[in-house]
Formats: sequence, C-alpha cells, structure tokens
Amino acid sequence: MSLKFIDDPSFEVEGKKVLVRFDYNVPLDKKDSTVITDTTRVDLTLPTLKYILEKRPSKVIIMSHLGRPKGQVVPEFGLEPVAKYLAQVLNEEVVLTETAKDSGIKTLLGLNSPRVILLQNLRYHPEEEKNDHEFSKLLASYGDIYVNDAFGTCHRKHASTYGVMAFFKKKTFGGFVLKKEIKALDQIVENPKKPFMALLGGAKVSDKIKVIEKLLPNVDSLLIGGAMAYPFLKAQGHNIGKSLCSDEDVSLAKSLLNDKFANRIMIPQDHVVSQSLNGEPETISEKSIPDDKIGLDIGAKTVSQYKEKLGQAKTILWNGPMGLFENQSFSKGTYALAEVLANSDAFTLVGGGDSVSALKNSGRAESISHISTGGGASLEYIENGSLPGIQGLKFGVEL
Ligand code: AMP
Repeated sequence: MSLKFIDDPSFEVEGKKVLVRFDYNVPLDKKDSTVITDTTRVDLTLPTLKYILEKRPSKVIIMSHLGRPKGQVVPEFGLEPVAKYLAQVLNEEVVLTETAKDSGIKTLLGLNSPRVILLQNLRYHPEEEKNDHEFSKLLASYGDIYVNDAFGTCHRKHASTYGVMAFFKKKTFGGFVLKKEIKALDQIVENPKKPFMALLGGAKVSDKIKVIEKLLPNVDSLLIGGAMAYPFLKAQGHNIGKSLCSDEDVSLAKSLLNDKFANRIMIPQDHVVSQSLNGEPETISEKSIPDDKIGLDIGAKTVSQYKEKLGQAKTILWNGPMGLFENQSFSKGTYALAEVLANSDAFTLVGGGDSVSALKNSGRAESISHISTGGGASLEYIENGSLPGIQGLKFGVEL
C-alpha cells in the first residue's frame, strides 16, 4: 500500500468534513503569551490548508498541540494566538473550541458557518499522549476524511497522529509538508549521493546513538561536534576537564569507536574552552582539555578540517550545534559550519531546532536544500526509514 497525499485524485472533499492534524506548537513571547514570536510553523501549513479549502469542504477541523501542559488546562498554552493569526491570513472566521472534547463541537459542525474550526490544545487532555481509544474515536467523529500534515509529531503514537486513523479506514491522506519532508529524507535514507557525510552535534550521545549506529555503515564520514565530542575524546583516553559528559555516553562512544566503521568517525582536534559557561573564551590547540576548563566550542583547526572534508560531499546531513552557540563567545564553530553547508553544492538536509535557528540567524537558511520541520522526527525517520504516523497513513491502524 502506498501513502496517498492530498493531491491524489481520490481526495474528494466537497461538502465533507476534513479533520486535519497540524503542528502549531509555535513559540510564544515569554512575557506575553498572546504573541507568536515565530509564525513559521503555521505559515508552512498554509498551502495545505488553502488547497483543502479551495475544494469546498463543509468544514475543516484543525487539531494541534502547543507546549507541554501535561494533560491539564494551562491557559498560557492556549491556541488563541494561532486562531487569531489563522483568521488574519485566511481572511475568514476561525472558531476556537473551549476544549477538544467540548459538547458544543457537534452543534458547530452542523452549522453553515464558520468553515474553519480549531480544536483547543489537544494536550490539555491526558488521553492525547496516551493514544486513548475513546479519545481517538471522539476526534474521528468530527470528520469524514483525515489529513496529517504534522511531520514534527509523526514519531509519536498519539491519539491525533495515530489512534484516530483506526476510524478512517482508507480515508487518510498526507499533506504537503509531509510530502516534502518524506521526499527529502528519502534522499538520505534510500540512495544518498556519495560521498555522504553527517555532521552531528548537540548535547548527548545517548540521544543520537541509534541514528549514529544506523548512519555509520552508510556514510563516508561522520563528523562529531558539540558536547557530543567529549565522550569520544574521553573514551580515547584524553582529558576533557569539566566538559559536559556522562559515563553512559562514554561507554556508548567506546562501543562506536570499536565498530568496524570507526575510522569514518571524525572528532575535534582543538577546542574553545572557558572557566565557566559565561566566562572568557580561550583556545586550546590540542585534543586534551585542562582539568579546570569546560569545552564549549570546536576550535579553528577542527573547523578548517571539517570544512575541507565537507567540501568533498555530495550529500550532507546536519543535526545539532557544534558548541554552546547561544553564547556568542562559543558560537563560531556552529556558524562557520552553517556557512559551509550554505555554500555547498551538495544536497544539504538540516534538522533539529538549534541547527535550524543557527542557520536562520546567519541569514543562510535559503541556501539549504531542505530544512526539516521536525528535529526528533527527522532523526527517527533516518533511523527507522519511516515513522508511526506515516506507517499509519500507509497501512492503516488496527482498532
Ligand atoms: P541537542 O538538543 O542534543 O541538539 O543539544 C543542543 C544543545 O547542546 C544546545 O543548547 C547547545 O548549546 C548545547 N551544547 C552544544 N555544545 C555544547 C557544549 N560544548 N557544552 C555545553 N552545551 C553544549
């Protein structure tokens, strides 16, 4: 069975109710939770939403989560700002329900207008993350056809991304965000153009171990940066001072360094360190870090070595910053490599909130072949070749 997208001829929705899952988990202003600080997540769904509306459905019922209210009604995580923004950009009325279980929803569905209904934050209900059967059934009762365009949550088996599909049988479709993500990720998972190189950074080896194990036999080189580098250095017997590192990560790094493809792993040769997270930056031009120092960025030698290596690549995957890039003193490595990717002729795929925001800050996001909307989801896709939400669209979900 194959995955059908909304541009498939069988997507017939005129006069029907379309239940859509989007990822409207937008960042809100910390001082004023009515203000969306970056509308990208909503903007990206507009082609799907407008396409569906042009097909004259009787209703579009939108579902999303926002933040982590942990199964409780937490007003700061309300979708009010999203409803307001959607009404503005669509130039039509958007009604936000009080909760996703509101008894008034059924009445609303029977009225001629409005066409667009946004269900309040799904994660106000613990049933959402539990993939609860009855909650899935209730959500499914709102629509005749189901569309998923929330790639960033497809790795979660939640009611709105998974359980709900048990009630739609063949009437499930992927939206345009999903279509684009899958096409781009398949260029990495299926037949990446060689040389294929992965640049992995961020905080913890344990978070990315499975994807490293999956990538190692397929990449030509795996370049490690960020705090992920220190467990590898420690495993090789180098001193890492007070750098971020756990024993679990050191033993994972050891096993990777014993892998038959270990010679593909590249580790920083030098570092930018400091006494504290806000201290003065200092360069260490060797692998070992003094006892009283914290490693906070890759050094200049490593940057030029990685730059030269990536210059040979035809495919590059990047996930995770090369250092504590939120502090300008330790951001040079991350920004230098963002520039390398932006200038590369290779197929470049970037995932993970931090790498994406580094690219956006450097103004070079446009030069990347594909920026994934889901960091965790894109890594899991690479690891397993698919995601539960996508498998559900392809093969259906058992009741
Ligand atoms: P991740 O979510 O695993 O991609 O980790 C991203 C976080 O790792 C960012 O907040 C970075 O600031 C942090 N990070 C990267 N390198 C370091 C480092 N050398 N020391 C401390 N934190 C780091």
